[in-house]
Amino acid sequence: MDKTILVCAVSSCLMAFANAAEYKLNTDVLVIGAGSAGLTAAVQSAEKGKKVILLEKNPMVGGSSQFAEGLFAVESELNRLRSDTLTQEEAFKTLMEKHFYVIDGPKTKDYVEGSGENIAWLTDHGIKFEVVRMTPWEEATWHVISDYKGTNHGAGLIKGLKDSADKLGVDTKTSTPATELIQNDKGDVIGAKAANKKGDTYIIQAKAVILASGGFGDDPKKIAEWAHRDPEGWKSSVNMNKTGDGIQMALNAGAQMGPVSFVGHLGTEGKGIKFLSDLYTTSWQPSALWVNSDGNRFANEDVAFSFSQAANAIYAQHGHYAWSIFDDSQVKYMMDKGIDSGIGVLAPVGKKLPNLQKDIDEALAADSDNFKAADSVEQLAKEIGVPEANLAAAVSAYNKGCEVQHDSQFFKLKNYMRPLNTKKLYAIKLKAYYFSSYGGLVTNRNHQVLDKNNKPIKGLYATGLEVSNMVGPTYTTWSSGHAFGFAAFSGRHAALHATENMK
Ligand SMILES: Cc1cc2nc3c(=O)[nH]c(=O)nc-3n(C[C@H](O)[C@H](O)[C@H](O)COP(=O)(O)OP(=O)(O)OC[C@H]3O[C@@H](n4cnc5c(N)ncnc54)[C@H](O)[C@@H]3O)c2cc1C
Repeated sequence: MDKTILVCAVSSCLMAFANAAEYKLNTDVLVIGAGSAGLTAAVQSAEKGKKVILLEKNPMVGGSSQFAEGLFAVESELNRLRSDTLTQEEAFKTLMEKHFYVIDGPKTKDYVEGSGENIAWLTDHGIKFEVVRMTPWEEATWHVISDYKGTNHGAGLIKGLKDSADKLGVDTKTSTPATELIQNDKGDVIGAKAANKKGDTYIIQAKAVILASGGFGDDPKKIAEWAHRDPEGWKSSVNMNKTGDGIQMALNAGAQMGPVSFVGHLGTEGKGIKFLSDLYTTSWQPSALWVNSDGNRFANEDVAFSFSQAANAIYAQHGHYAWSIFDDSQVKYMMDKGIDSGIGVLAPVGKKLPNLQKDIDEALAADSDNFKAADSVEQLAKEIGVPEANLAAAVSAYNKGCEVQHDSQFFKLKNYMRPLNTKKLYAIKLKAYYFSSYGGLVTNRNHQVLDKNNKPIKGLYATGLEVSNMVGPTYTTWSSGHAFGFAAFSGRHAALHATENMK
């Protein structure tokens, strides 16, 4: 039974649902969503001596955060020990440039300047980090969770924060989604309603409500309406049932809608292709030749290192797809020497792909729609359904560029210019995906949600992926860990502002 006061109107609910109850609860801070933003908000609030209820829609805590790997920070203690040279000043200025100055300057400055302290706070909670650079394009900002009691990456961070939350007496309710905010007659938010599958309903009065429900990435209708993307060609890669609940509840309470964006990435799927298998991993490699549905090359394939930009390049093609073409020598290279571009730390740079030939054979045996093999360019053109003349011209021009180690078409880095053996070709279909949506609500420097007149809605905060104006139209891997770092930073700082201003 909850520690919080239970005022039960069981009799009326029993008429509607056998065993269902209506609970009326009171708390200082109500947090909606138990990913990294929600858990940091809950722990930080409880450490300030406040009573906290944490609602989670799914049966377990963690959200997308449990799959993420590292958090952005500059001038952390780890950076100091590694003698990393990026300064917070340079990071701030570069972020403003990278995001075309459409992002929130003051909040970005707070985030950059607080990022090292954010890692220190998490370290004080038993979470250990290592700084990892995955690609030639990024700075040493990615603080990957190396351990929390034997668990690493996002799962380790979630476990660590949940342990802290439990110790501090945070009342966590899983499988209990918030459904609606409660407002007083002045429009201030004074709590929220929630309901579970059993039919139990909760009316929770709170001095502050912190939204941390992780965005709208798993609701194709909102992808079309809010982001104006074709949900058939722009897909969530890890469905966590995140349907924009926090954003929608705030909009219903009078919040203004802010710009939305994504943490995009390239990838593939289809019959005979398993997610994150050795064959899947080939779809992230910069050494292939990419062609669109017309059989024409369209970009420097080393954009694969910047996985969000790569997703844009693919989405921009007709039908929102492309083919990545490689040959038997590249298969051997990836099996013997390892990959050039990592997929996070799950498939790091240099990882050998011992199962690649087996995966290829299995996909072909399954007659995969999205993976094809051919003994000639002509045959490959037929297999992937592109005009033969265009594909032949694309392969010929590309191979000529490889011979002279200069890509006069799109200036791909010469390290990744490897000629194709036209007698043994493979093609894997590339599509555009995203790890998370980003944005929806506009917040001020204190992480309070702003209404249509740009005034804070009293009692309401938004954090993590719910927040607009932290990235521009496209996420950048230059500042690796930006989304995860901001989730933890904004969760904590929303909690600090809420608790410090609480009567
Ligand atoms: C495979 C993968 C790898 C990634 N790697 C990185 C990385 O290394 N670095 C990085 O910066 N970013 C990474 N990301 C993005 C990362 O997930 C986000 O940066 C971060 O998790 C956002 O945290 P959050 O707390 O805002 O959202 P989440 O962690 O998704 O938490 C939101 C929570 O709210 C819950 N919720 C939803 N609706 C309700 C409701 N109505 N009531 C109650 N609860 C609700 C959800 O179930 C969920 O548990 C990755 C994402 C994926 C999928």
